[in-house]
Amino acid sequence: RADQIIHQLEKEVKHHHLENRVKVIQTGCFGFCEKGPIVKMIPDNTFYVEVKPEDVKELVEEHVCHGRKVTRLLYVDPETSDVIADSDHMTFYKKQMRVALRNCGVIDPNQIMDYIAHDGYQALHKALTKMTPEEVIKEIDQSRLRGRGGGGFPTGRKWSFAKKNTSKEKYVICNADEGDPGAFMDRSILEGDPHSVIEAMALCGYAIGATQGIVYIRAEYPLAIKRLQKAIDDATSYGMLGQNIFQTNFHFQVQIKYGAGAFVCGEETALIHSMEGERGEPTMKPPFPAEAGYWGQVTNVNNVETLANIPVILQKGGEWFSHIGTSNSTGTKVFALAGKIKNVGLIEVPMGTTLREVIFDIGSGIIDEKAFKAVQTGGPSGGCLTEKDLDTPIDFDSLIAAGSMMGSGGMIVLDEEDCMVNVAKFYMGFIVEESCGKCTPCREGTKRLYELLEKITEGNGTMADIDTIRELSHMIGDASLCGLGQTAPNPVLSTLENFYEEYVAHVVDKA
Ligand code: SF4
Repeated sequence: RADQIIHQLEKEVKHHHLENRVKVIQTGCFGFCEKGPIVKMIPDNTFYVEVKPEDVKELVEEHVCHGRKVTRLLYVDPETSDVIADSDHMTFYKKQMRVALRNCGVIDPNQIMDYIAHDGYQALHKALTKMTPEEVIKEIDQSRLRGRGGGGFPTGRKWSFAKKNTSKEKYVICNADEGDPGAFMDRSILEGDPHSVIEAMALCGYAIGATQGIVYIRAEYPLAIKRLQKAIDDATSYGMLGQNIFQTNFHFQVQIKYGAGAFVCGEETALIHSMEGERGEPTMKPPFPAEAGYWGQVTNVNNVETLANIPVILQKGGEWFSHIGTSNSTGTKVFALAGKIKNVGLIEVPMGTTLREVIFDIGSGIIDEKAFKAVQTGGPSGGCLTEKDLDTPIDFDSLIAAGSMMGSGGMIVLDEEDCMVNVAKFYMGFIVEESCGKCTPCREGTKRLYELLEKITEGNGTMADIDTIRELSHMIGDASLCGLGQTAPNPVLSTLENFYEEYVAHVVDKA
């Protein structure tokens, strides 16, 4: 539908001979998926929601030609019934802070000049002409940025390991193998602001002494790939990539490698094996990629969202960034808000924002006024948090303390009608599909767990089965080789902890 709207807008602009005065720009995601497609009029920032192709004629005639807002296409606040034209005043955006998503929905991702006009490549210029690699790492260190892919490892420390180690060649890898069910943070950044990731990779290359950058991206993201490739080509033509960038001695190039969508390839050793043409299976660490990664060379791997924060940290300073969020989790975090929530979408909030604020303010609460039951954070590696956890601040440590984890940013809200045993079964089914099969506890254990969960949901389970589920979950977590298997039982364990009575009810029902 968005494509049709763009086509109609271009047609109407032409029809009214406005080509020299009005430009139709296709941006990346605004985040407010629930109310899309969105048409934003600049410079007055009027935000039209749920636009249909048949609305375009009126939009151009009324708004563009006569300067009158089309009220019926404006957002209506569900609480106050106020008609709101400016997105800054909408509840969905009020508590958000866009750092990683700063350019998404703002610039035309296909135009490098648009990125440059929004301070793009200034951080790279500043670093190459005014800073030493050590100073760049120090700035990132000072920001206390932690990896947004799920691990939460300090980015500055990761870069300093890669800088310290020596090898014939060094590599910067962008992990764009986003695989959590319902998560689309990385895809949106690459579709809406690909240059920020390229600039960050070049900055990392300069800091650690690498000249090669590779984006490992799942092949199921065709639009992101198309825009990323155009951005790489344009950055190369404009001298932001290639030889002697900004007339310095720094050379850096970026290429794309496709993943086949295996969830385990988000793990960095599996990702590197896949890039080398091997099976995407994890290996024991050490050695870490910063010691021996891609083709045995020193390699730094960061995920898309982590990288999207880098240029702005270099521009505004690590200290600026360190004042956003909480002391142990600085900055913001992007979440894909989904499930039984009124405002489904992509959001970015300062760390420390509570789950309640995200679900009930930004998300506007539960659909059909049903009762909130749980929220799953951290995808298949995370856990289900309940009513008692709603005031938990969203940061790496608080979510772990509450029994879940940050993960890469999937957040699925469940209501009173959701069966939590079914939820645990859903995630376990996903893991059974995605286990690479290398180690027995994960390969066999997750299958057995799935079978037991299925037995219970079908009403054939016993109390002994519930005990076996708990025991087997601990065994899989303790004995699996990589993070996928180690965290696979989390949804089961957290639902057992918080919703034990639902497991029992399935058994009792049968009796
Ligand atoms: Fe593969 Fe699972 Fe073992 Fe990880 S834990 S290596 S995904 S079988």
